[in-house]
Amino acid sequence: MRHHNKSAYIPKRASRRGQRDAEFWHNIMPMPRAATDLFARHIAWTSDTPIGLEVVHAEGPHIMLADGRRLIDCISGIAVSSIGHRHPRVIQAVKAQLDRHLHLMVYGELIQRPQVEYAARLCEQLPSSLQTVYFTMTGTEANEGALKAAKKYTGRARMVAFERSFHGDTHGSLSVTGRSIYRAPFEPLLPQVDFLPFDNVAALRHIDRATACVITEPIQGEGGMNVPSDTWMQALRRRCTETGALLIFDEIQTGFGRTGTLFAFENFGVVPDILTVAKAMGGGMPLGAFISSRRILNALRRDPPLSHVTTFGGHPVSCAAAQAALAVLLEEGLPARARKIEALVRQRLDHPSIGEIRGRGAMLGLVFADPPLAQAAVQRCLDQGVLLGWTLHAGSLIRLAPPLNIPMAVLGQALDVILAAADG
Ligand code: PLP
Repeated sequence: MRHHNKSAYIPKRASRRGQRDAEFWHNIMPMPRAATDLFARHIAWTSDTPIGLEVVHAEGPHIMLADGRRLIDCISGIAVSSIGHRHPRVIQAVKAQLDRHLHLMVYGELIQRPQVEYAARLCEQLPSSLQTVYFTMTGTEANEGALKAAKKYTGRARMVAFERSFHGDTHGSLSVTGRSIYRAPFEPLLPQVDFLPFDNVAALRHIDRATACVITEPIQGEGGMNVPSDTWMQALRRRCTETGALLIFDEIQTGFGRTGTLFAFENFGVVPDILTVAKAMGGGMPLGAFISSRRILNALRRDPPLSHVTTFGGHPVSCAAAQAALAVLLEEGLPARARKIEALVRQRLDHPSIGEIRGRGAMLGLVFADPPLAQAAVQRCLDQGVLLGWTLHAGSLIRLAPPLNIPMAVLGQALDVILAAADG
């Protein structure tokens, strides 16, 4: 994507006066409405090199572009579109809720059917210690709420997080994100945060009785699809229980079937004190939550009341969409399908350029020799109609996270393209 150049609209052979006039009109007149130009003029960019392709439609595993091309979506909007784009049941649920009501009141004041019914359905899938839901809009807000609840419940301030973790970009979540290049420009952040090496049992001794909480992804996503050992997970649970530190699992990326079970913690036989979720939860609509026990979440309800409020958390349209998305996930057995996707990927992507395939289920990372090779492969795939991505902390790794219901034939086409790109 090239930076937009204002003078491109000024006729080349205009006189100086003409040029001044053109610039004047340029500044006050509506400009040509090409979306690319509007993107360049008015959208804040997050890097100098956005993908910058114009999307006109998305359906199932496909994204249709304004230039007529169709991409196979192999990243699902970073683990959001797990049931594909525009699933008909989500569309139907959203339309039905649009005809009832939209936003009514800050979260937690009025009883709204889509919220309470979805919370109840979701809690049926969760252990008895995770039965109270606080809805948010996004993942980072879910983590903010979880960290605040842990501090207030324990009366402690110290937090422990892990190297190469990612928990979001608001100040609290960034404070526990384990990569200093992202934290440094925004310091000072939260005090008393310590980072331990991930999947290292010996380091767990640093969790102590001053620790309010320990936050981790059960499988690190942005850190490079790092799956820890069962031993570490179980030792982590034990150490938190011993010291009274609350264990927070950030399942914002791993949740809702992505790693082969509805939640990744089920893989490890441990239950967190607080679970945070978002991304795929809303079936394409914005929704997140932190989920815990009534006892822990009561900390946000008293001394003072309204210790934590949000206007849009648990938007009724998003909750209606989430209810439909969860029904699709469960009825179509999509967590199990994530395991089939993993099996096919591991079997087909046996290629000398791909050193390793990391991750679990449909949350996989293809490890290339170095970042330029990985980037070149991503670009070649995009040119051939397959959308793949990168991760924040692992430059030589390509992210593969297709919708869980991608037809196997379509996944096969995408894997052919990846293999050709790996040939380089
Ligand atoms: N936590 C994890 C593990 C994530 O992968 C992400 C987003 O990628 C977040 C938190 C932040 O979520 P959001 O972008 O919805 O704020």
